[in-house]
Formats: sequence, structure tokens, C-alpha cells
Amino acid sequence: MAQNPQSILKNVFGYDAFRPLQKEIIDRTLEGKDSFVLMPTGGGKSMCFQIPALCLEGITIVVSPLISLMKDQVQALQSNGIKADFFNSSISPEEEKAVIERAREGKIKLLYLSPEKLISVSRTWLNLLNIKLVAIDEAHCVSMWGHDFRPEYTQLKVFRNSLPEVPFMALTATADKSARADIEKQLGLRESKLFISSFDRKNLSIEVRGQVPKKKKLEEIGRFVDRKKNESGIIYCLSRKNTEEVANYLLAEGHSVAFYHAGMSAEERERVQTEFILDDTKIIVATIAFGMGIDKSNVRWVIHYNLPKNLEGYYQEIGRAGRDGLPSETRLYYNMADFVMYSQFADDGANSSMQKEKLNRMLQFAEAKSCRRKILLSYFGEHLSKDCGNCDVCDNPPKDFDGTILAQKALSGIARMQEKEGISMLINVLRGSNNAEVYEAGYTQLKTYGVGKDLSFYDWRDYIIQLANQGLIEIMYSEGSALKISPIGWKVLKGEQPIKLTFPVTAEEKKSRKP
Ligand code: ADP
Ligand code: ZN
Repeated sequence: MAQNPQSILKNVFGYDAFRPLQKEIIDRTLEGKDSFVLMPTGGGKSMCFQIPALCLEGITIVVSPLISLMKDQVQALQSNGIKADFFNSSISPEEEKAVIERAREGKIKLLYLSPEKLISVSRTWLNLLNIKLVAIDEAHCVSMWGHDFRPEYTQLKVFRNSLPEVPFMALTATADKSARADIEKQLGLRESKLFISSFDRKNLSIEVRGQVPKKKKLEEIGRFVDRKKNESGIIYCLSRKNTEEVANYLLAEGHSVAFYHAGMSAEERERVQTEFILDDTKIIVATIAFGMGIDKSNVRWVIHYNLPKNLEGYYQEIGRAGRDGLPSETRLYYNMADFVMYSQFADDGANSSMQKEKLNRMLQFAEAKSCRRKILLSYFGEHLSKDCGNCDVCDNPPKDFDGTILAQKALSGIARMQEKEGISMLINVLRGSNNAEVYEAGYTQLKTYGVGKDLSFYDWRDYIIQLANQGLIEIMYSEGSALKISPIGWKVLKGEQPIKLTFPVTAEEKKSRKP
């Protein structure tokens, strides 16, 4: 029974070799230690807990928020001859009892649960089970700093505390630095080791088109889709109305297309999804509700019809293209109307300032003039040493100049303010502003006070965003959007590495775009 990970990989799953990090994660888990697994969608996260589950004498609890995903995973495991089961709010009391009974008798190796179910049942029967491992999938849901916060997840810490000896594993495809720290805290992970596999999806080309009027946008999409005859693709829209409009436009042009949104019945949605998976429908025009937990490897392109709300969501959505590793295209359309609308949404509701910052970051990405992949990856804490050669900016590079001195001024300002301040304060200090806040904080005494007088506020803002986009600066959303200097930023500050900047768009253009 007690097989080793390698033979389980081969004999149970039929794979010859581990992917990067899988082996390390599995070994650490078998040593009884906590891990934090950050891997892109399709990276092979499940194997990281499924294999230890089969090695350990006892049961592994898998917490997952998506019922559809849970069912699929459990069915896939069962078809591999693995004793897996699931347990969510949709099962009847009788079924529930039967599952518990099987679990108690040791007839289940992996038990999948939704967080609300886990919390509601935990006291009564979980201590009857011989739990040897707990995996928390989609762990970003526990953090307010993530982009898909689910309150039920915050209860998981109680569960953790009741199982102090059991290794916990948090898994997600999306968490920036702030979110990661928060997830560890919220879940009560102990000395967990962070495993990040590369998020780079080299096969996805990245393109952004700004300020395209609606009629032209539809025509462009029509031409795009014409080029892609018989290939599967997804178009993401902001509103239900948009999905129907775009779908109807493409339908009239003779394409195989359906729309998908939360206003449709569950059966209709299921049908649309199935037809897409089976390649009976080639194009889906959907609100973001589509694609969570579907595993279709040959999606050849993804278009965003509107600006996404944040980079996490955007990266996840484009990541649904090209899972088979073949070249795939992504294109993002954005205009200021989307931005203004979101900003208004964000005004009410909790966390509005963080949501706004993330939205700003999304816009900055869209407006960026440096390699887009570099920006995206640096947002997730990964730094590419070279431009990617597979994005629209790399294809059409803007004119740049040696920006090392400018960067050093900004970075030294950040350092002298102990990495505690945000963009506006930094710019005020650089420009030698007479602002009361600058005085009160004592920043007029800094060496950097006034070293950037010659540039306007807007130009500085543009350059600082470029520095963030190039990964020299990190914006800490969990700390009032304070600016921090990254390891590369320190290199530039110390004069060990030059950097290029591009000229900003004019202040007038920027002003006219303010919401
Ligand atoms: P994630 O949960 O990270 O999105 P999955 O665990 O669903 O990814 O894995 C994605 C795909 O990769 C699955 O089809 C899985 O069987 C496959 N896979 C995982 N590990 C390996 C491996 N070592 N060798 C080959 N295929 C693998
Ligand atoms: Zn690039």
C-alpha cells in the first residue's frame, strides 16, 4: 500500500516525471510541514496534495469553493481508481451520512469539501477521522487583498487550530505579495514554505488596444475572428447586455457563437458550456462567470471587450487560452468609460481604496510602454531579465532614453521615507512641494526634497508607474499603497544597473482621462 510518490505518479496517474516543484512540495508535505503553493492555472497543483494523500495512512481533506470543479476532480480521481469523495451543501442528509460512514471506516483517501460545509460539520465528526493532510484550494479567497474574497474562508483558521499537528497546504494561482502574507496569517500556516512556479506563459501573445470606439471594436473583433476560423475562443465582457450584443453581431457574421452570463438559467449555462467544451460552439461571449473550473486545453484566443477590474483577474482569464502550450493570442480592449464606471462601483463597498488602486494598476498596465509580460510577471513577483518579444510593445517599441538618474531620484526618495509613503507623497517631496503633509512629516529636511522640481506632477507619476511596471518598485496595497523598492530597484539605486524610460504622454492627455 505505502507507495512512494514517484511510483504513484507513474502507476496511478500515468505520468513519467514530476513537473518543477511538485516533488519538493510532496516531500515537504510528507515531512509534516506546511506549504504555500503558487502556480498558474494548469500548472499541476492538484498533484501536490493528491500524491501525498495516497502515500499517507489516513484521510486528506481538500477545501475547494467550486462545486463544479470538485465534482470533476473527484470523478477524475475515481476513474483512476482512487477513493475520493465530496461533500457539499447540495448533497442530501442520507448521502452525507453515508460519506461520513465511509470516511470513518477509512474507505476514503481524499474528501473534498466546500468551506461552509467544513465549518458547519467540523466539530461533530471531523475528530472521528484520521486526518493526515489538509489542502486549501483557491486559497486567495481567504484574503481581502485578493480579488475573490469569500467570508466563509476566514473560518478555516479555527479548523487549522484544531489540527495543530497536521500539515496544511494552501494553493492558489493568484496572489500578490500582500495577499500572500495575508493568506498565511488568515489560515494560520506555520513556517510555511513558499513554492512559486513560473507564471510565464510564453505561448500567449499579449496585445492591448486603447480607446477604440464601439463600432470599430466590433469590426476589429469580426476580422480577428475571421482569421481564427474553427478555433475556440472566449470574449469577456463587462455586462450581460454586451455579451448578447457581441454574440449577436458575430452570429450575424456567420460565426459559431453563444453568450453566457449569470442571468441565464443553470441548465442553459450548462448547455452552452458543454457545447463549447465539445467544440460544437467555437466562440463564447461571456461575463467573467465563465471559465472558472473548466478544463479546455485548446482555447486558441481570449479577447477582453472591456478593461478587467484587476491584473489578477485579467491574468487568470487570458490564462484560459493555450493550456496545451500551443501559440495563442490574447487581446485587451479598454477605454476610459470602463475605468470611470468601475471607479464609481468601487466608491461604495468595503475595500474601495484597495479596489481602486488595483484598478489603477490595471489601467497603468494597459497604458504601459514597456514589455507587457515583464509588467505582468513583476506584478506577481517574478522578474524577466529580457523583454518577451511576444507582446504588442515588444513588436512596436516606443522611443526610450536612459532613465537611470530619474529612477535613482525616485528610488532614493522612497528609501529616505523608509518605504512608508505612496506615490503622491513621493512626488510632492521630489518636486519640493509646500504641502502641509510634507512639512508635518519632516520631509522637507530630506536630501531628495526638491531634486525633481523640473518635472510636472503628471510626468513624475508616469515615470514612477513605469518604474513599477519594470519591477523596480512594488506597490503594497495592504499598507496604504506604500512604495517599496524591489531587489532590482536597489541595484539601480546603487548604480549597478541602468534602466530605460519612455517619454510620458502629455499632462493634458492624462488630465482628460481622469475619472
Ligand atoms: P492546476 O490545479 O494547477 O490548475 P491541475 O492540477 O489541474 O492544474 O493540472 C493540470 C494538468 O496537468 C492536469 O491534466 C494534470 O493531470 C496534468 N499534470 C499535472 N502534473 C503532471 C505531471 N507531472 N506530468 C504530466 N502532467 C501533469
Ligand atoms: Zn514583451
